[in-house]
Amino acid sequence: MSAPADVVVIGGGQAGLAAGYHLRRLGLDFVILDGQESPGGAWRHTWDSLRLFSPAAYSSLPGRLMPPQPGETYPDAAHVVSYLTDYEQRYGLPVHRPVRVTGVHRDGELLRVETDSGTWRTGAVISATGTWSRPFVPAVPGRTEFRGLQLHTVEYRGPRDVAGQKVIVVGGGNSGAQIAADLAYDAHLTWVTLREPRYLADDIDGRALFDHATARRRALDEGRTDTGGVASLGDVVAVPPVRAARDAGLLKAQPMFTRLTASGVEWSDGMTGDADAIIWCTGFRPALSHLAPLGLRGPRGHIPTTGTRAVGEPRLHLLGYGDWTGPASATLIGVGRPAREAARQIADLLR
Ligand code: FAD
Repeated sequence: MSAPADVVVIGGGQAGLAAGYHLRRLGLDFVILDGQESPGGAWRHTWDSLRLFSPAAYSSLPGRLMPPQPGETYPDAAHVVSYLTDYEQRYGLPVHRPVRVTGVHRDGELLRVETDSGTWRTGAVISATGTWSRPFVPAVPGRTEFRGLQLHTVEYRGPRDVAGQKVIVVGGGNSGAQIAADLAYDAHLTWVTLREPRYLADDIDGRALFDHATARRRALDEGRTDTGGVASLGDVVAVPPVRAARDAGLLKAQPMFTRLTASGVEWSDGMTGDADAIIWCTGFRPALSHLAPLGLRGPRGHIPTTGTRAVGEPRLHLLGYGDWTGPASATLIGVGRPAREAARQIADLLR
Protein backbone atom coordinates (compact mmCIF):
# COMPACT_ATOMS: atom_id res chain seq x y z
CA MET A 1 0.00 0.00 0.00
CA SER A 2 1.24 3.53 -0.74
CA ALA A 3 -0.93 6.36 0.52
CA PRO A 4 -0.60 10.17 0.20
CA ALA A 5 -1.08 12.68 3.05
CA ASP A 6 -0.08 16.33 3.40
CA VAL A 7 1.42 15.54 6.77
CA VAL A 8 2.34 12.31 8.56
CA VAL A 9 2.57 12.47 12.34
CA ILE A 10 4.62 9.64 13.80
CA GLY A 11 3.50 8.71 17.33
CA GLY A 12 0.02 8.93 18.83
CA GLY A 13 0.86 9.92 22.41
CA GLN A 14 0.05 13.35 23.80
CA ALA A 15 2.49 15.14 21.47
CA GLY A 16 1.09 13.47 18.34
CA LEU A 17 -2.48 14.28 19.41
CA ALA A 18 -1.63 17.93 20.12
CA ALA A 19 -0.11 18.11 16.64
CA GLY A 20 -3.27 16.56 15.19
CA TYR A 21 -5.45 19.12 16.96
CA HIS A 22 -3.59 22.02 15.35
CA LEU A 23 -3.23 20.40 11.91
CA ARG A 24 -6.99 19.87 11.91
CA ARG A 25 -7.63 23.52 12.82
CA LEU A 26 -5.49 24.58 9.87
CA GLY A 27 -7.44 22.30 7.54
CA LEU A 28 -4.51 20.08 6.60
CA ASP A 29 -4.89 16.48 5.46
CA PHE A 30 -2.92 14.26 7.83
CA VAL A 31 -2.58 10.85 9.45
CA ILE A 32 -1.18 9.88 12.82
CA LEU A 33 0.69 6.57 12.86
CA ASP A 34 1.06 4.99 16.29
CA GLY A 35 2.90 1.81 17.14
CA GLN A 36 0.63 0.80 20.01
CA GLU A 37 -2.58 -1.23 20.10
CA SER A 38 -4.58 1.45 21.91
CA PRO A 39 -4.46 5.15 22.92
CA GLY A 40 -2.45 6.67 25.76
CA GLY A 41 1.21 6.68 24.63
CA ALA A 42 3.68 6.10 27.44
CA TRP A 43 1.02 6.56 30.11
CA ARG A 44 -0.23 3.03 29.38
CA HIS A 45 2.98 1.57 30.76
CA THR A 46 3.81 3.40 33.96
CA TRP A 47 3.82 1.95 37.47
CA ASP A 48 0.51 1.69 39.34
CA SER A 49 1.05 4.40 41.96
CA LEU A 50 2.41 7.13 39.63
CA ARG A 51 0.82 10.51 40.22
CA LEU A 52 1.03 13.52 37.91
CA PHE A 53 3.00 16.37 39.40
CA SER A 54 0.29 18.92 38.48
CA PRO A 55 -3.47 18.99 39.11
CA ALA A 56 -5.69 17.91 36.20
CA ALA A 57 -6.49 21.35 34.81
CA TYR A 58 -2.75 22.04 34.56
CA SER A 59 -2.17 18.82 32.65
CA SER A 60 -4.34 19.61 29.64
CA LEU A 61 -3.78 19.49 25.91
CA PRO A 62 -5.03 22.31 23.65
CA GLY A 63 -8.78 22.68 23.35
CA ARG A 64 -9.98 20.48 26.17
CA LEU A 65 -9.33 20.65 29.92
CA MET A 66 -8.50 17.40 31.64
CA PRO A 67 -11.39 16.75 34.03
CA PRO A 68 -10.46 16.29 37.70
CA GLN A 69 -10.05 12.72 38.95
CA PRO A 70 -12.58 12.18 41.75
CA GLY A 71 -10.84 12.14 45.13
CA GLU A 72 -7.37 12.92 43.74
CA THR A 73 -5.66 16.30 43.38
CA TYR A 74 -2.88 14.72 41.32
CA PRO A 75 -4.37 12.30 38.76
CA ASP A 76 -2.93 8.84 38.12
CA ALA A 77 -1.76 7.45 34.78
CA ALA A 78 -5.04 5.60 34.10
CA HIS A 79 -6.83 8.94 34.27
CA VAL A 80 -4.42 10.38 31.67
CA VAL A 81 -5.03 7.38 29.40
CA SER A 82 -8.80 7.89 29.52
CA TYR A 83 -8.33 11.63 28.89
CA LEU A 84 -6.15 10.97 25.82
CA THR A 85 -8.59 8.30 24.59
CA ASP A 86 -11.46 10.73 24.87
CA TYR A 87 -9.36 13.53 23.30
CA GLU A 88 -8.61 11.67 20.09
CA GLN A 89 -12.24 10.53 19.77
CA ARG A 90 -13.69 13.98 20.48
CA TYR A 91 -11.58 15.58 17.74
CA GLY A 92 -11.93 12.62 15.38
CA LEU A 93 -8.17 12.40 14.97
CA PRO A 94 -7.16 9.94 12.22
CA VAL A 95 -4.91 7.67 14.27
CA HIS A 96 -3.84 4.43 12.56
CA ARG A 97 -2.68 1.73 14.97
CA PRO A 98 -0.83 -0.38 15.45
CA VAL A 99 1.45 1.00 12.73
CA ARG A 100 5.19 1.10 13.44
CA VAL A 101 7.30 3.46 11.34
CA THR A 102 10.56 1.86 10.34
CA GLY A 103 12.15 4.66 8.31
CA VAL A 104 11.65 8.15 6.88
CA HIS A 105 13.38 8.75 3.54
CA ARG A 106 13.81 11.66 1.14
CA ASP A 107 11.93 10.90 -2.06
CA GLY A 108 12.28 13.83 -4.47
CA GLU A 109 9.95 16.61 -3.38
CA LEU A 110 8.27 14.34 -0.86
CA LEU A 111 9.20 12.33 2.20
CA ARG A 112 8.51 8.60 2.18
CA VAL A 113 7.42 7.04 5.44
CA GLU A 114 8.01 3.28 5.54
CA THR A 115 6.02 1.27 8.09
CA ASP A 116 5.18 -2.32 8.95
CA SER A 117 1.78 -1.69 7.30
CA GLY A 118 2.68 0.09 4.09
CA THR A 119 4.19 3.34 2.84
CA TRP A 120 2.99 6.95 3.05
CA ARG A 121 4.23 9.75 0.78
CA THR A 122 3.96 13.17 2.34
CA GLY A 123 5.01 16.79 2.18
CA ALA A 124 5.97 16.97 5.86
CA VAL A 125 6.55 14.78 8.90
CA ILE A 126 6.08 15.52 12.58
CA SER A 127 7.99 13.02 14.67
CA ALA A 128 6.45 12.62 18.14
CA THR A 129 7.74 9.24 19.25
CA GLY A 130 8.69 10.17 22.82
CA THR A 131 11.42 8.59 24.92
CA TRP A 132 9.71 5.76 26.78
CA SER A 133 10.87 3.09 24.31
CA ARG A 134 14.52 4.09 24.90
CA PRO A 135 15.28 3.61 28.59
CA PHE A 136 18.79 4.69 29.60
CA VAL A 137 20.99 2.88 32.11
CA PRO A 138 24.45 4.30 32.87
CA ALA A 139 27.51 2.17 32.15
CA VAL A 140 28.41 1.27 35.74
CA PRO A 141 31.21 -1.32 36.05
CA GLY A 142 30.08 -4.80 37.05
CA ARG A 143 26.55 -4.58 35.64
CA THR A 144 26.84 -7.98 34.03
CA GLU A 145 28.30 -9.54 37.22
CA PHE A 146 25.29 -8.71 39.39
CA ARG A 147 23.18 -11.86 39.84
CA GLY A 148 20.02 -10.19 41.13
CA LEU A 149 17.15 -8.58 39.28
CA GLN A 150 17.70 -5.34 37.33
CA LEU A 151 14.72 -3.28 36.23
CA HIS A 152 14.41 0.11 34.59
CA THR A 153 11.61 2.55 35.44
CA VAL A 154 9.76 1.31 32.34
CA GLU A 155 9.57 -2.24 33.75
CA TYR A 156 8.56 -1.38 37.32
CA ARG A 157 4.89 -1.88 38.16
CA GLY A 158 4.65 -1.88 41.96
CA PRO A 159 6.00 -3.17 45.29
CA ARG A 160 4.65 -6.67 44.62
CA ASP A 161 7.55 -7.17 42.15
CA VAL A 162 10.12 -7.00 44.97
CA ALA A 163 8.21 -7.12 48.28
CA GLY A 164 10.37 -8.07 51.27
CA GLN A 165 13.56 -7.92 49.22
CA LYS A 166 16.66 -5.75 49.50
CA VAL A 167 16.15 -3.17 46.76
CA ILE A 168 18.37 -0.36 45.57
CA VAL A 169 16.60 2.44 43.70
CA VAL A 170 18.97 4.57 41.62
CA GLY A 171 18.02 8.10 40.60
CA GLY A 172 17.22 11.46 42.20
CA GLY A 173 14.49 12.67 39.83
CA ASN A 174 10.72 12.33 40.10
CA SER A 175 10.71 8.69 38.98
CA GLY A 176 13.39 7.71 41.49
CA ALA A 177 11.69 9.56 44.34
CA GLN A 178 8.22 8.20 43.55
CA ILE A 179 9.43 4.61 43.16
CA ALA A 180 11.55 4.85 46.32
CA ALA A 181 8.48 6.15 48.18
CA ASP A 182 6.42 3.32 46.70
CA LEU A 183 8.87 0.73 48.05
CA ALA A 184 9.68 2.37 51.37
CA TYR A 185 7.09 0.34 53.28
CA ASP A 186 7.29 -3.08 51.60
CA ALA A 187 10.97 -3.60 50.76
CA HIS A 188 14.36 -3.04 52.43
CA LEU A 189 15.07 0.13 50.52
CA THR A 190 18.33 1.86 49.72
CA TRP A 191 17.85 5.01 47.65
CA VAL A 192 20.93 6.13 45.74
CA THR A 193 21.28 9.53 44.07
CA LEU A 194 24.11 11.37 42.33
CA ARG A 195 23.62 14.34 44.63
CA GLU A 196 21.45 15.13 47.65
CA PRO A 197 17.80 15.08 46.46
CA ARG A 198 16.51 18.57 45.72
CA TYR A 199 12.82 18.75 46.60
CA LEU A 200 10.71 21.61 45.37
CA ALA A 201 8.99 23.37 48.26
CA ASP A 202 5.94 21.37 49.40
CA ASP A 203 3.49 23.97 48.16
CA ILE A 204 5.08 24.04 44.68
CA ASP A 205 4.13 21.55 42.00
CA GLY A 206 4.24 21.20 38.23
CA ARG A 207 2.35 24.47 37.83
CA ALA A 208 5.45 26.35 39.00
CA LEU A 209 7.58 24.33 36.61
CA PHE A 210 5.29 25.30 33.77
CA ASP A 211 5.28 28.98 34.80
CA HIS A 212 9.07 28.89 34.87
CA ALA A 213 9.20 27.27 31.42
CA THR A 214 6.76 29.89 30.10
CA ALA A 215 8.90 32.74 31.46
CA ARG A 216 11.93 31.15 29.85
CA ARG A 217 10.13 30.88 26.53
CA ARG A 218 9.17 34.57 26.67
CA ALA A 219 12.74 35.54 27.50
CA LEU A 220 14.04 33.53 24.56
CA ASP A 221 11.35 34.88 22.21
CA GLU A 222 12.19 38.45 23.19
CA GLY A 223 15.93 37.91 22.86
CA ARG A 224 16.55 38.33 26.60
CA THR A 225 18.99 36.27 28.68
CA ASP A 226 18.05 32.58 29.00
CA THR A 227 16.57 32.09 32.49
CA GLY A 228 17.63 28.44 32.45
CA GLY A 229 15.62 25.22 32.46
CA VAL A 230 13.26 24.06 35.21
CA ALA A 231 16.11 22.11 36.83
CA SER A 232 17.14 25.31 38.63
CA LEU A 233 13.98 24.98 40.81
CA GLY A 234 14.66 21.47 42.10
CA ASP A 235 14.44 17.88 40.88
CA VAL A 236 11.60 16.32 42.85
CA VAL A 237 8.01 17.47 43.16
CA ALA A 238 6.87 16.49 46.66
CA VAL A 239 3.62 14.81 45.57
CA PRO A 240 1.73 13.42 48.60
CA PRO A 241 3.21 9.86 48.64
CA VAL A 242 6.77 11.25 48.33
CA ARG A 243 6.11 13.81 51.05
CA ALA A 244 4.66 11.16 53.38
CA ALA A 245 7.62 8.78 52.96
CA ARG A 246 10.12 11.62 53.29
CA ASP A 247 8.46 13.02 56.41
CA ALA A 248 8.40 9.52 57.95
CA GLY A 249 12.19 9.47 57.53
CA LEU A 250 12.05 6.67 54.95
CA LEU A 251 13.74 8.53 52.08
CA LYS A 252 17.33 8.95 53.18
CA ALA A 253 19.48 9.09 50.05
CA GLN A 254 22.92 7.50 49.80
CA PRO A 255 25.60 8.62 47.36
CA MET A 256 25.99 6.77 44.08
CA PHE A 257 27.97 3.51 44.26
CA THR A 258 30.94 2.98 41.97
CA ARG A 259 30.41 -0.62 40.89
CA LEU A 260 28.13 -3.60 41.02
CA THR A 261 29.28 -6.92 42.45
CA ALA A 262 27.72 -10.36 42.14
CA SER A 263 25.64 -9.79 45.27
CA GLY A 264 25.16 -6.04 45.41
CA VAL A 265 27.07 -2.77 45.12
CA GLU A 266 30.30 -1.18 46.31
CA TRP A 267 30.93 2.48 47.16
CA SER A 268 34.15 4.41 46.58
CA ASP A 269 35.16 4.10 50.25
CA GLY A 270 35.04 0.29 50.00
CA MET A 271 31.68 -0.07 51.80
CA THR A 272 29.44 -2.73 50.24
CA GLY A 273 25.71 -3.37 50.29
CA ASP A 274 23.78 -6.53 49.41
CA ALA A 275 20.87 -6.29 46.98
CA ASP A 276 18.28 -8.63 45.51
CA ALA A 277 17.17 -6.05 42.98
CA ILE A 278 18.31 -2.77 41.47
CA ILE A 279 15.81 -0.40 39.91
CA TRP A 280 17.38 2.08 37.49
CA CYS A 281 15.39 5.33 37.45
CA THR A 282 18.04 6.90 35.27
CA GLY A 283 16.09 8.43 32.44
CA PHE A 284 15.52 8.06 28.76
CA ARG A 285 16.84 9.00 25.34
CA PRO A 286 14.75 10.21 22.38
CA ALA A 287 13.35 7.45 20.15
CA LEU A 288 14.69 8.63 16.78
CA SER A 289 15.97 5.52 14.99
CA HIS A 290 13.22 5.79 12.34
CA LEU A 291 14.82 9.10 11.26
CA ALA A 292 18.29 7.59 10.75
CA PRO A 293 17.94 7.43 6.92
CA LEU A 294 17.79 11.25 6.86
CA GLY A 295 21.30 11.47 8.35
CA LEU A 296 20.48 14.35 10.71
CA ARG A 297 21.86 13.12 14.00
CA GLY A 298 23.78 15.74 15.99
CA PRO A 299 25.48 15.90 19.39
CA ARG A 300 24.07 13.77 22.26
CA GLY A 301 21.95 11.78 19.84
CA HIS A 302 19.62 14.72 19.25
CA ILE A 303 18.67 16.14 15.87
CA PRO A 304 19.53 19.86 15.77
CA THR A 305 16.37 21.97 15.57
CA THR A 306 15.25 25.57 15.38
CA GLY A 307 12.16 25.42 17.55
CA THR A 308 10.65 22.16 16.38
CA ARG A 309 11.98 22.23 12.79
CA ALA A 310 14.99 20.10 11.92
CA VAL A 311 17.85 22.32 10.82
CA GLY A 312 18.93 19.89 8.12
CA GLU A 313 15.45 19.01 6.79
CA PRO A 314 12.78 21.75 6.79
CA ARG A 315 10.00 19.21 6.08
CA LEU A 316 10.66 17.48 9.40
CA HIS A 317 9.51 18.69 12.85
CA LEU A 318 10.30 17.08 16.20
CA LEU A 319 7.73 17.41 18.94
CA GLY A 320 7.88 16.40 22.61
CA TYR A 321 11.13 14.64 23.64
CA GLY A 322 12.48 17.38 25.93
CA ASP A 323 13.28 21.05 26.32
CA TRP A 324 15.48 20.95 23.22
CA THR A 325 12.32 20.99 21.06
CA GLY A 326 10.71 23.79 23.12
CA PRO A 327 10.44 24.64 26.81
CA ALA A 328 8.27 22.04 28.64
CA SER A 329 7.41 20.36 25.34
CA ALA A 330 7.60 16.92 26.98
CA THR A 331 4.72 17.73 29.33
CA LEU A 332 0.98 17.58 28.79
CA ILE A 333 0.40 21.29 29.26
CA GLY A 334 3.61 22.38 27.54
CA VAL A 335 3.31 20.54 24.22
CA GLY A 336 0.40 22.61 22.89
CA ARG A 337 2.42 25.66 21.99
CA PRO A 338 5.22 23.94 20.03
CA ALA A 339 2.54 21.77 18.36
CA ARG A 340 0.75 24.90 17.15
CA GLU A 341 3.99 26.41 15.91
CA ALA A 342 4.96 23.22 14.05
CA ALA A 343 1.53 23.01 12.38
CA ARG A 344 1.69 26.66 11.34
CA GLN A 345 5.14 26.33 9.83
CA ILE A 346 4.09 23.21 7.94
CA ALA A 347 0.99 24.97 6.60
CA ASP A 348 3.23 27.80 5.34
CA LEU A 349 5.66 25.33 3.78
CA LEU A 350 2.95 23.40 1.94
CA ARG A 351 1.16 26.46 0.59
P1 FAD B 1 4.82 9.07 24.31
O1 FAD B 1 3.74 9.21 25.31
O2 FAD B 1 5.93 8.11 24.60
O3 FAD B 1 4.12 8.66 22.93
C1 FAD B 1 4.86 8.31 21.81
C2 FAD B 1 4.05 7.34 20.99
O4 FAD B 1 4.77 7.09 19.79
C3 FAD B 1 3.84 6.00 21.68
O5 FAD B 1 2.50 5.60 21.54
C4 FAD B 1 4.78 5.08 20.93
O6 FAD B 1 4.36 3.75 20.89
C5 FAD B 1 4.78 5.70 19.56
N1 FAD B 1 5.96 5.39 18.75
C6 FAD B 1 7.26 5.38 19.14
N2 FAD B 1 8.07 5.03 18.10
C7 FAD B 1 7.23 4.81 17.05
C8 FAD B 1 7.44 4.42 15.70
N3 FAD B 1 8.67 4.19 15.21
N4 FAD B 1 6.36 4.27 14.88
C9 FAD B 1 5.11 4.50 15.35
N5 FAD B 1 4.86 4.88 16.63
C10 FAD B 1 5.90 5.03 17.46
N6 FAD B 1 4.38 15.15 32.17
C11 FAD B 1 3.41 15.92 32.70
O7 FAD B 1 2.87 16.80 32.03
N7 FAD B 1 3.02 15.74 34.01
C12 FAD B 1 3.55 14.75 34.78
O8 FAD B 1 3.19 14.61 35.94
C13 FAD B 1 4.55 13.89 34.21
N8 FAD B 1 5.08 12.85 34.91
C14 FAD B 1 5.94 12.00 34.30
C15 FAD B 1 6.43 10.90 35.01
C16 FAD B 1 7.31 10.02 34.39
C17 FAD B 1 7.82 8.83 35.13
C18 FAD B 1 7.72 10.24 33.07
C19 FAD B 1 8.70 9.30 32.40
C20 FAD B 1 7.26 11.34 32.37
C21 FAD B 1 6.38 12.24 32.98
N9 FAD B 1 5.90 13.34 32.30
C22 FAD B 1 4.94 14.14 32.87
C23 FAD B 1 6.45 13.71 30.96
C24 FAD B 1 5.62 13.46 29.73
O9 FAD B 1 4.29 13.88 29.85
C25 FAD B 1 5.72 12.06 29.12
O10 FAD B 1 7.06 11.69 28.92
C26 FAD B 1 4.90 11.89 27.84
O11 FAD B 1 4.50 10.58 27.79
C27 FAD B 1 5.57 12.25 26.50
O12 FAD B 1 4.55 12.20 25.48
P2 FAD B 1 4.91 11.93 23.95
O13 FAD B 1 3.63 11.98 23.21
O14 FAD B 1 6.02 12.83 23.56
O15 FAD B 1 5.53 10.46 23.96
